[in-house]
Amino acid sequence: MDLHTLSVAALQKQLRSGSVSAVEALDALESRISIVDPKVGGYLSHSTHQARKEATAADLSKPLGGIPIAIKDVINVTGEGCSAASKILKGYTATYDATVIRKLREAGAIPFGRLNMDEFAMGSSTENSAYQLTRNPWDFSRIPGGSSGGSAAVVAADEAYASLGSDTGGSIRQPAALCGCVGLKPTYGRVSRFGLIAFASSLDQIGPFTKTVEDSALLLNALAGKDPMDSTSVDLPSDNYTRLLGQDLKGIRIGMPKEYFIEGIDPQVDKAVRDAIRHYEALGAEIVEVSLPHTEYAVAVYYIVATAEASANLARFDGVRYGHRADNVQNLLDHYTRTRSEGFGEEVKRRIILGTYVLSSGYYDAYYLRAQKVRTLIRQDFTRAFEKVDALICPTSPEVAFRIGDRSDDPLKMYLADIFTIAANLAGNCGISIPCGFANVESKRLPIGLQLLGKPFEEAKLLQIAHAYEQSTPWHRERPDLSSSGL
Ligand code: GLN
Repeated sequence: MDLHTLSVAALQKQLRSGSVSAVEALDALESRISIVDPKVGGYLSHSTHQARKEATAADLSKPLGGIPIAIKDVINVTGEGCSAASKILKGYTATYDATVIRKLREAGAIPFGRLNMDEFAMGSSTENSAYQLTRNPWDFSRIPGGSSGGSAAVVAADEAYASLGSDTGGSIRQPAALCGCVGLKPTYGRVSRFGLIAFASSLDQIGPFTKTVEDSALLLNALAGKDPMDSTSVDLPSDNYTRLLGQDLKGIRIGMPKEYFIEGIDPQVDKAVRDAIRHYEALGAEIVEVSLPHTEYAVAVYYIVATAEASANLARFDGVRYGHRADNVQNLLDHYTRTRSEGFGEEVKRRIILGTYVLSSGYYDAYYLRAQKVRTLIRQDFTRAFEKVDALICPTSPEVAFRIGDRSDDPLKMYLADIFTIAANLAGNCGISIPCGFANVESKRLPIGLQLLGKPFEEAKLLQIAHAYEQSTPWHRERPDLSSSGL
């Protein structure tokens, strides 16, 4: 049996029945990584020593007992590097576990490996990593999406049973869509961000990449909950996110936001999503048209709010306490300037400059304050829509994976990749991307993602709706044929 192809739920069964040991589950990943990762480039590093110790001692009676979970390089794991794929944090070793890591360990899981990403999670293609390219397992000449491109690619290529990523404007959902796996962005406040290197604190959420919706629910069971170390995490009674899986969709109302079905969407994406909507009708859900009238401002608002917050969050990387430090500096100012010029990549510098500009006196009212007001209008759009429906349905990304290098010199075009995902971060609600078909492009099959957006803190229902589609369609069972991709 090809152990590495298993879902978390299937592996859990094998482990509990005793037919497989946690060390074997880890070994299966190791050998898969050694075969495919030289080409995929999803892992920045993966040290087996500690993971093996944990696998040997794994308590299989725990919910995720003995299951290795791969981690985006922006989440701190004690003793492991944590560079956010930036040169400025090269050589930095985490001194503590992020709360999500502590929680994974409490559930018996084994944090394993460091996954490539866009530097400081800024990007949509993982091309902004200071270290390496990650390739889309469905076509190695294409990007895996971003910023959590490594997290998506390793799950799609069966080099991880599941992984963690972060989503500030779509960085879980968009790469999941482009790589053909399941990516869940929980509601803002559902999962603690303590130990996540902050990008834009009013938008960042951590969530899982998995092969199935059920796995996504299993991981959220472990990750969710109030954390005194993150004051934005919300104190709600703990939910069981698998509780509604398998229930039918009678009485469920799903909204089709008319602003999300616009010109410019790849026709194959548009068709797959419309087919999915008809499929939902056949499953008994009622589809209604809704309007999110301020959608057209979402990209502009996001790139003001996110860059403003990033410019403040990234001020701490000054070469004094950790990471890169410039040599032979003349004085303190020279130290800061040279350290940051050398340490940050081009996109990160662009965002810091943009963010500093929109916060500066004279421009604050015109940009930042106005963006915050429009953000409120965007949030109200969602609140109104959710009075009528249980979930919203739309494409995750307007297009399938593009070629490496295609957008590198056109940041604006790259920013438009987020058009359908960022509003959920601005509003704070939960969202998921699930596979809904393939586009045929130049003799390759490229995955298409369906996005479902849920009401704040109603992940259980969102997962129910996603699961009903997944279980009655074949898409999630499809795997890239890596041998035909040049391996
Ligand atoms: N692609 C978006 C950006 O570049 C979103 C990134 C994210 O969600 N971390 O900012």
